[in-house]
Amino acid sequence: MSNKIPLSRRAKKLNCVLDFMKTYNIAALAGDGIGNEVMAEAIKVLRATEKKFGFTLNITAAPVGWAGIDAAGKALPDATLALCKKSDSILFGSVGLPDRDPTIPKEERPERAALLRLRKEFGLFANLRPVKLPKVLSHACPLAKERQGDGIDILVVRELTGGMYFGQPKKTEDIGGGNFRAIDTMVYTTPEIERIAHVAFKAAQLRRKKLTSIDKANVLENGILWREVVTRVGKNYPDVVLEHMFVDNGAMQLMLKPTQFDVMLCENMFGDILSDEAAALGGSLGMLPSASLGATNGNQTFGFYEPAGGTAPDIAGKNLANPIAQILSSAMMLRQSFGLNDAAAAIENAVTKAIEAGNRTGDIFNAAETGAKRVGTSQMGDAIAAGV
Ligand code: NAD
Repeated sequence: MSNKIPLSRRAKKLNCVLDFMKTYNIAALAGDGIGNEVMAEAIKVLRATEKKFGFTLNITAAPVGWAGIDAAGKALPDATLALCKKSDSILFGSVGLPDRDPTIPKEERPERAALLRLRKEFGLFANLRPVKLPKVLSHACPLAKERQGDGIDILVVRELTGGMYFGQPKKTEDIGGGNFRAIDTMVYTTPEIERIAHVAFKAAQLRRKKLTSIDKANVLENGILWREVVTRVGKNYPDVVLEHMFVDNGAMQLMLKPTQFDVMLCENMFGDILSDEAAALGGSLGMLPSASLGATNGNQTFGFYEPAGGTAPDIAGKNLANPIAQILSSAMMLRQSFGLNDAAAAIENAVTKAIEAGNRTGDIFNAAETGAKRVGTSQMGDAIAAGV
């Protein structure tokens, strides 16, 4: 008897079986402040997802930041770096403690010695910052309700290793008479623009299939090249609608009509600024995940996943932090690094369900909201894990 299952369905079934057999190695670096609390909740949710979908997550914790300095004398201990190198991705909390940071030299401080070092070590060139404001949290957004439409849902894709922040020459010259000349150089090559454009188009294909490329082609040589290359790369993605927008207009449109955006593609400095502007629309730092991607090997991409916020020492150790940013970062990891799209969607849906059920950590709580109940970090994690 011939096999009546269509080829595409058989391939999908085979992929599910392969996912089931697969083990993914994850370095979990919680760091300082609220890092441990929110990481514990992300791991709780990942374990629930693992159980439901059948793949195996080999999650190994290691100290970083002040936890690394206290354990091994360095913000990025050698053993932590070695663990990262043999892992498939890094799930990161956050590092740095404002009380302790000034007590050691700048280059040894956690953000520089651990965070920037890891970004460099793993060639993380693409930064993905989704901002999603569910309609039920409209009170947490600084924009008037009528500008929020049915909810804001934007992905900012930022090039992370080129442009003005790294271009040479970069220096300050003494030009005499007590005056100085400061020079920064904005530089991009075709391959650098191509690789980030591919990331952005692929992300758009998984979303609402619209890409807004941000540049300053009316003034900058870099902008002209950026626009040409992005347009050319776009020919490979006929299902994605591409539009170009000058950065000044982009900044304004984010405030006037954020619902027009799906994916925004930016060079390094424009992305730095616009991703923070977009983040403000998300209501709370505690809701915002991020991914920084490096090279792709076969169908796995090395990635570094972290919440947009810092160590929040003001609320650390009190079961007050919102774990959603860390939990959504872990969902991004499943999708971007391992291609486990269904599992990632299950986590994202569970977050939506927990919010719709009225669970609110302090940062998104509004006493005037009917049905909202104030919960702690671990209760929010429990609610999300139960909904996966
Ligand atoms: P922060 O993001 O830690 O805190 C800013 C405000 O947002 C605080 O009021 C905090 O309570 C709140 N907040 C942040 N995350 C939250 C969450 N998950 N739930 C609820 N509220 C949350 O920024 P900061 O105070 O400027 O910095 C504190 C430390 O974190 C500093 O040492 C800084 O260098 C470090 N930092 C680290 C990273 C990182 O590791 N990537 C990023 C930013 C800041």
